[in-house]
Amino acid sequence: MRTLKLFLAIIFAVSIATAWELRTIHGQGLDHATSLVITITSDNYSNINTFWDGANQLRDYLIAAAPFNTFSDRIIINALGRTGNNFGSVAGGHVVSGTNVNNVRSTINNHTSNGTNVFLLLNNSTMYGGVAHNQNLGPNSGLLAIANHPGQGNWRGLMLHEMGHVWGDLHDEYDGPWCPQNTAANQSTDGNSNTNKWRHWIGIDGVGIFPLTGAWGQGCGLVSGQSWFRPHQSCRMRDNVSDPFCRVCQASITRVSANVMGQPFWGGNQSGTSVNIPAGRTHIMFAEFHAMPNLASITIPASVTTIGDFAFLACPNLRTINIDATTPPAINNTTFHGLTRANIVVNVPAGTRQAYINAGWTDFDIPGDDPSSINGTKKSGKHYGIIFAVNPVSEQAEINVILPNNDRAVETNVVIYDMVGNVVFEEKATNRTPVCRVIWDLRNPAGRFVANGTYLVVVEAKNINGRIYRYSARLGVKR
Ligand SMILES: [Zn+2]
Repeated sequence: MRTLKLFLAIIFAVSIATAWELRTIHGQGLDHATSLVITITSDNYSNINTFWDGANQLRDYLIAAAPFNTFSDRIIINALGRTGNNFGSVAGGHVVSGTNVNNVRSTINNHTSNGTNVFLLLNNSTMYGGVAHNQNLGPNSGLLAIANHPGQGNWRGLMLHEMGHVWGDLHDEYDGPWCPQNTAANQSTDGNSNTNKWRHWIGIDGVGIFPLTGAWGQGCGLVSGQSWFRPHQSCRMRDNVSDPFCRVCQASITRVSANVMGQPFWGGNQSGTSVNIPAGRTHIMFAEFHAMPNLASITIPASVTTIGDFAFLACPNLRTINIDATTPPAINNTTFHGLTRANIVVNVPAGTRQAYINAGWTDFDIPGDDPSSINGTKKSGKHYGIIFAVNPVSEQAEINVILPNNDRAVETNVVIYDMVGNVVFEEKATNRTPVCRVIWDLRNPAGRFVANGTYLVVVEAKNINGRIYRYSARLGVKR
């Protein structure tokens, strides 16, 4: 009898240990090529329901935590569960060693068809940890993060901290004993607020330049007089894993997530002047365009419904936003943080101006609905409008039309009247160059030279969104 019980127990243990079960617990049906795919697997569970419960709790915590909450509709979370010691995770310890990391990754890959990006392991024992970011910088960066579950304290916050290491290009922000890394997004030896890599975030939600102390020291690559710095005093990458990620860490996680979701993340691109967001995008991500000092214009397709926090942080030269969405994208008061809204022309679809204002797009220069009322007819400015090469003229008139805010015309009409209102010249140009140039040979429609005197030049220029600019200027003819 005793033998039989033992025999049955062995059969039972073997049979349940060989059956992996895969559940997609978030984002079912999403296209994995344009999603962030996270798979959670199990080690050391005797009751598999404990694992399913833990995976669901981790899912709920993760999709509510910044920055994941800003793109939770593009995250797939799988749970792959089986009882028993599957990967060699042990009790005690603080590192991944002991767990067969390659076996975890190959097992997940063998049981999922949707291209896992982030590999997580719930260990129903006491060991936890993550592989530091700099130990794997490949295109599928990130090896494995382990949290002990249920464990003590905030094991879910701990998992996100470890994800910061293996996935988010982040190192620890606490003091020692590990050596910091200049390659991490949240560590630097640069204490100068004018050049430090997270300088654009300084002053926002507690971000600053704070020295790391304690065990960090000369042995960690410092030369005399140097220190290591972190961006925040209470980030999840410090000791208290219940703290949110600081803004610097959020931006880093968002960037690496965007990369696997198959979309560019422009933030930190120092050179871009104009960006066209492809049709189909629904969100502009947190910090997506931050730190683009030359960005002058952006075109947003009709599909965009939200624009994230600090999307245009440190874009001081942004002047034109073209939006095709008839329902105004949702914004908040951080979206255009640090920018002067009155300096930005927002071209919206016809009939939607008031809807934009009602949705919080206040204080921008939003052209009106009726093209005939837009702008009225403005006198030319010094740098835009109608710019004559020479005035008065004796041989020919060179008329340059330049629109403000780097806008470009798709159609430019130039009409010249004499003092009694007869049209003496008319030309329609369709080039989209920054300067539209029209030459008048000083002849009227009959081919004869016009008389000396003053002529009125009127220009109507229409941009790609149908906005019409009108200018007038007087031209002297003295032959
Ligand atoms: Zn941080």
